[in-house]
Amino acid sequence: MALAVRTLENFVGGTWVAATGDSARTIVSPVTGETLAEAPDASPADVDAAVEAAGRAQPMWAARSAWERAEICHAIADLIAERREDFARELTLEQGKPYASEALADIDETAENFRIAAEDVKRMETAVIPSQDPAKRILTFRKPNGVYAAITPWNFPTLIPVELIAPGIAAGNTIVMKPSEWTPLAMANFMQIMADAGLPDGVVNVIYGAGEVGERLVTHPGVDGIGFVGSHRTAEKIVRAAGLKRSLIEASGNGPVVVCEDADLARAAQGAVFGGFFCAGQVCCATERVLVHERVHDAFLDEVVKVAAEWPLGDPFEAETKVGPMNNEPTAAKMDAHLEDAVGKGAEVVLGGSRAGGHPTQLYYEPTVVVGVGLDTLINREETFGPIVPLIRVGSDEEALAAANDSHLGLQAAVYTSSLSRAFRYLDNLRVGNVVVNDSTDYWEAHEPFGGAAGTQTGWGRIGGRYTMLDMTDLKTVVLDVGGGLE
Ligand code: ADP
Repeated sequence: MALAVRTLENFVGGTWVAATGDSARTIVSPVTGETLAEAPDASPADVDAAVEAAGRAQPMWAARSAWERAEICHAIADLIAERREDFARELTLEQGKPYASEALADIDETAENFRIAAEDVKRMETAVIPSQDPAKRILTFRKPNGVYAAITPWNFPTLIPVELIAPGIAAGNTIVMKPSEWTPLAMANFMQIMADAGLPDGVVNVIYGAGEVGERLVTHPGVDGIGFVGSHRTAEKIVRAAGLKRSLIEASGNGPVVVCEDADLARAAQGAVFGGFFCAGQVCCATERVLVHERVHDAFLDEVVKVAAEWPLGDPFEAETKVGPMNNEPTAAKMDAHLEDAVGKGAEVVLGGSRAGGHPTQLYYEPTVVVGVGLDTLINREETFGPIVPLIRVGSDEEALAAANDSHLGLQAAVYTSSLSRAFRYLDNLRVGNVVVNDSTDYWEAHEPFGGAAGTQTGWGRIGGRYTMLDMTDLKTVVLDVGGGLE
């Protein structure tokens, strides 16, 4: 049955309104190749209207009690849970991730983010500070930063937006969302749920478009803060354009997995493969490279090949499929280029290594394992963002640490070792924001602080529960003179 092609509309001030931009993007399913939607770009006037709506709503929304805002967050979570199958099905169709093993979990975690925010906001306590003057009382309050532009990527089209939306609105901010131009449908569906759950008009607004619309939003005088998740190149542009506006930036990773000579190799292989193939490798904390001690290299490779066989590529709606198509051609082309570069420099493909034929689109990429990857390769130096487990031999912990830290993308690393002191040596010395010991680089929980290390180009601030809420609010300090004491 042919799908009805939807024309997406902006959501501004509580209503769907036709976009007035003079260009549009056709949204094609990476799974089936069918056209799913037309997404017209927002015009400058549309951006103004969305920012104005958010600006109008913000003081009223912030004036509500934390309990009232929390109640709405819970209502949204409940409605997401009620509509989870439809929401997840469309997510798979537009993004490509396996329905049963990934899309449903994304939707459940999207709901969970609202529940976490609802609970956190009720406990946002601040300090009462002693004064040098007996007549003074110093109080602090946490205030929302105002109107946020939230600009997000296509790999987690509901989960990444909610990491900004839930803590952001729970704390009293209002938001203009610009989802990725590759996955606008998921945001349209998400917005419908938020509106149906009773979110007041203007608290979240949605506009569509690519970098030009994003930049207009970032530089708009009515936008007070920016929440961005995406590539480090875009992050840098945004930060330059944003000037002194507050920002929360999470950009790209080059997640090394370190397999030490004392690692449990079966476990390490499970984690490396999971991190390499989950979401077809299109995760900012994916296994981008595996630094394996030479003494265990061959035994580890055997384990990896065994585990990789348990990750069949195919139709993401089939229950047994664990790897779906990649989301878009530029990302698949980057995977092609990185592989070609590595093989040209002496790497050897052990498994996969190219796009798979016989599927409805060219985006189905064979889960790939490569060995003999050099430090001078694009795979080692940049983010590949595809279904790949690349092995790099190292001769010692020092070598592994040096290779891991010689990166401009210090987001998340995993270390496999059976020694507690070795684990601590790595976690003290790895230049990343997050370290996982004895599990995958793709291990995260919704409320843990997640983000990049200073000195690398991975951004700043933390995604995750109350830590995002802290970033999206600021302290207001109040000094009260209460007059003299008792006579
Ligand atoms: P990814 O490929 O991981 O999605 P990008 O950095 O290309 O990463 O895109 C992330 C988000 O940033 C998308 O919503 C995209 O439209 C937006 N974007 C791209 N360029 C700009 C820009 N110059 N200013 C603001 N937003 C931008």
